[in-house]
Amino acid sequence: METIVSGMRPTGHLHLGNYFGALTNFIKMQENYNCYFFIADFHMLTTHPNPNDLQDNVRIILSEYLASGLDPEKAVIYVQSMVPEVTELYMYLNMITYVGELERTSAFKEKVRQNPNNVNAGLLTYPTLMAADILLHRATKVPVGKDQQQHLEMTRDIAERFNKLYTTDYFPLPQAFNFEGELVKIPSLDGNGKMSKSYGEKATIYLTDESNVLKKKIMGAKTDEGPQSANSQKSVEIENLFSLMKLVSSADTVKHFEDAYADCSIRYGDFKKQLLADMDLFLQPIRERIKDIYSNQAYLDKVIAISTEKARQSAKKTVKEVREIIGFRNDI
Ligand code: AMP
Repeated sequence: METIVSGMRPTGHLHLGNYFGALTNFIKMQENYNCYFFIADFHMLTTHPNPNDLQDNVRIILSEYLASGLDPEKAVIYVQSMVPEVTELYMYLNMITYVGELERTSAFKEKVRQNPNNVNAGLLTYPTLMAADILLHRATKVPVGKDQQQHLEMTRDIAERFNKLYTTDYFPLPQAFNFEGELVKIPSLDGNGKMSKSYGEKATIYLTDESNVLKKKIMGAKTDEGPQSANSQKSVEIENLFSLMKLVSSADTVKHFEDAYADCSIRYGDFKKQLLADMDLFLQPIRERIKDIYSNQAYLDKVIAISTEKARQSAKKTVKEVREIIGFRNDI
């Protein structure tokens, strides 16, 4: 069975983009692949989070993963910092990763531009840690968005370099994996690009948003002056609202409003009210499950204990074999 690895940084609540862009695929993948889904808390240290926030954010993501349908019986859902073997592999991989190639990655250049006062070595070697995350389980497939493709290529380069240096085929070269074809892009509520935390709270729908919050966001979403003639082109704002409706409303409902748009009879107030009602209906059970799981520390601890054990088993095996390949002793 092929192995998939995917990590998510604990930066707060998951939004609809994370849900439809990543989680819904993970839920299907866990049925047919050997899946490792981890919470990338080591990666967070590049931005120096305070310990309480870090711990709570890990608990939030874990609860939201489980509430969305990731199943700890089927996939290994673990916390990166609880599998310290990754740091040993990271160190070995750093020895065959060149500073020049790290400096050239666009994510690094972007971070340097955003935060010139915190250009730490961890930020530079972020792609090596990501390579270690993937190679730790000798993954063959990695679900990545466009922004991560360059990092995955580096992982392949590093794996290939390791294999060449030690004349082995130990590490498979992991491939980008788009489950069922196209990568979906969930748009934001304000007509700007994709839904993302960095584009503002008002335009982002979180899985935990309560009805009143949803109401404010959806009813307050930007629209335009309405279709001026039959079958006119939709503005980005309206296109985005339709895209969101397609995610949560029935095909009949979507068709009703598409037709109303086409013949210029649409009333955006009604359109948004329908989107709000369907979004609320969709999120309500997820929201409830998140609350239940988040408050059940005993259950979360049990999931972490079982998953950490499984992740470490795989990690220890890899690190032991890598040490042998490099020429270190494991026998005493
Ligand atoms: P982020 O925390 O923004 O890096 O998102 C983690 C993952 O969620 C990404 O790698 C994507 O798979 C998915 N994702 C985030 N935002 C969106 C979006 N607007 N549309 C589709 N997928 C998304």
